Amino acid sequence: MRAMEALFMVQDEDTIVRQLLHRHANLTERLTLVEAVAARAATAAQVEEQKVDHLDLFRRQRRYEGEVAAVESRLGELDTLLYGGTVTSPKEAVAIQTEMGHLRQRLDSLEGTVLEVMEELEPVERLVAELNARGVAEATAVEECRRELLAAEAVVDAEVDEARERRRSAASEVSKDVLTRYDRAATNLGASAVVRFSGSDCTGCPYSMPAVEVDRVRSLPEGTLAECTECGRIVAR
Ligand SMILES: [Zn+2]
Repeated sequence: MRAMEALFMVQDEDTIVRQLLHRHANLTERLTLVEAVAARAATAAQVEEQKVDHLDLFRRQRRYEGEVAAVESRLGELDTLLYGGTVTSPKEAVAIQTEMGHLRQRLDSLEGTVLEVMEELEPVERLVAELNARGVAEATAVEECRRELLAAEAVVDAEVDEARERRRSAASEVSKDVLTRYDRAATNLGASAVVRFSGSDCTGCPYSMPAVEVDRVRSLPEGTLAECTECGRIVAR
């Protein structure tokens, strides 16, 4: 009788462990972590995208600034040439002044372009800074979620350990043969591998045992294990 109750305890603890493992796999903290990781990844992808735009604009700015410097340098040279006293013919002086006029126009246009690029760059830089700040906050959130998940898992793990310990203790009172028979049945029948005999039926399935079988099980001494002919469950007399 004691062994029979122990077998039911084994089954109860197995059910508890199964439920705990299900809870472990479906912790809301796990889902929250997955969402936090996805949010961080989305922001990182946005940063990469903006960095491409940023780099493109930055290069354009540098290129136009380089051209500005080249034009300014050429203007400086022409200025030196014009007022340095080496130009003697008026025709040459006019040619230099004409070129300087063109260069000044070019300089105005280039400086305008540099300003335009800088104006385009400004919101991109602001966005990258915002995204970076968001990324830092999201990385912190991910770590926080990870810690919370580990804590929640630890609670469930401790309960699993306790249930397994109770199972071990109960199983020690059940014979090896019965335990093997139970384990095999539990693989297919889960939480109701072993059921109680109602006096006329297996209580694990909706089918009725044949009358002859019912009589046979009834005649068995209490504490004997029979088997339902309909569903294969272990029936405890
Ligand atoms: Zn049955």
